[in-house]
Amino acid sequence: MDLLRNIILRKGHVINEDILKVDSFLNHQVDYELMKEIGKEFFEYFKDKNITKVFTIESSGIAPAIMTASEFKVPMVFLKKQKPNTLNNNTYQTEVKSFTKQTTYNLTLSKEYINKNDNILIIDDFLANGEAAKGTIKLVEDAGASVAGIGIVIEKSFQPGRKYLEEKGYDVYSLARISSLKDNKIEFVN
Ligand code: 5GP
Repeated sequence: MDLLRNIILRKGHVINEDILKVDSFLNHQVDYELMKEIGKEFFEYFKDKNITKVFTIESSGIAPAIMTASEFKVPMVFLKKQKPNTLNNNTYQTEVKSFTKQTTYNLTLSKEYINKNDNILIIDDFLANGEAAKGTIKLVEDAGASVAGIGIVIEKSFQPGRKYLEEKGYDVYSLARISSLKDNKIEFVN
């Protein structure tokens, strides 16, 4: 997606060779026009997959996910990052390792917002090691529902997330694929 690549090149900040900061258009301030285009792009790719809901993780996935849900005209559900709560059996929960914070959190989904007939499109802002996607997939599958695909805004292709998800057979569609952040330079696949 050329529009996204250009914005990444103009506004992205390389923090180190593993992390890109995109606070000015995605992770803090949000460019709604870009989000609308992102929603359309995911719709074009996944439109034949009978998507019933769009899932993401709070908070940075919400902006692209809501615009995508709006194209599909289905609800968007964001999974919450919460402290483990063994007393609550109205939720599905799983532990996820945070890429940026080097900590773990409990990903939580209320049983009210998923059923076994759901066909879920997972959307997230970044794909790095695939931990967030793996946790989301687990909750969807624990509920007996299906993962129809995974849409990623920015994939860091030099980290193992895509390979892991593809090996498990999931359809991963990333709008921008970064091949390197070395020497303070952003390079894309192709
Ligand atoms: P993963 O779970 O695939 O290892 O990492 C994905 C999650 O970590 C994303 O939801 C995103 O919030 C965060 N993340 C991973 N890499 C980056 C990065 O380079 N920049 C920012 N801002 N967030 C990242």
